Amino acid sequence: MKRLLLATRNEGKVRELRALLASEPIQTETLATHPEASDVEESGKTFDENARLKSAHAARSTGLWTLGEDSGLEADALDGAPGVRSARYAGVQGDAAANNARLMRELAGVEDRRARYVCVVALANPDGEIVATARGTCEGWLLEEPHGSGGFGYDPYFVPERGECTMAELELAQKDAISHRGQALRSFIPLLRLHLCLEEEPSG
Ligand code: IMP
Repeated sequence: MKRLLLATRNEGKVRELRALLASEPIQTETLATHPEASDVEESGKTFDENARLKSAHAARSTGLWTLGEDSGLEADALDGAPGVRSARYAGVQGDAAANNARLMRELAGVEDRRARYVCVVALANPDGEIVATARGTCEGWLLEEPHGSGGFGYDPYFVPERGECTMAELELAQKDAISHRGQALRSFIPLLRLHLCLEEEPSG
């Protein structure tokens, strides 16, 4: 079976990416089992640049086909912040409680609560060359109080467009059906099949 490295240490992302790739004949691995792949500095100004950086670096370090993913939240009233700084908005990488607290402070008293999640995935070959990218977005708005315990990151505050509840109140499959990551992966999977020469699942 073909191997695909998911270039992330974020368990929330890994759970969702694995569910979205579950029907593909591939064995997914993560950075948790690849200590030879050091963390790369996310120096890009866009999700696209950072997805490419992460993917190329991890592929070169491991010699594996690699999916790099960069994602985040853009709030309209904050000119797109936290954006590419979503994971470290409050200063410490991956501290969701602190990030949410800062987001709520910045939006205190603000009427325009519109926001979107953005996700870019990039496929690197074992030489670290980017051969495919895909992007997904999910429009919505931000509540003032958290609801739900599923998902990760900003999910307890984010209500997707036309939805009645937050991302954190949805089952994994419901979130994947509408999320930025789900949208990106649905565009990405045909490209993945092409490059890894995967057989398509027989339909019916
Ligand atoms: P990255 O690891 O640099 O791509 O940062 C991603 C960050 O964006 C996460 O740590 C979260 O703060 C936020 N984020 C991305 N996708 C989601 C999601 O699906 N739900 C909630 N927060 C997300």
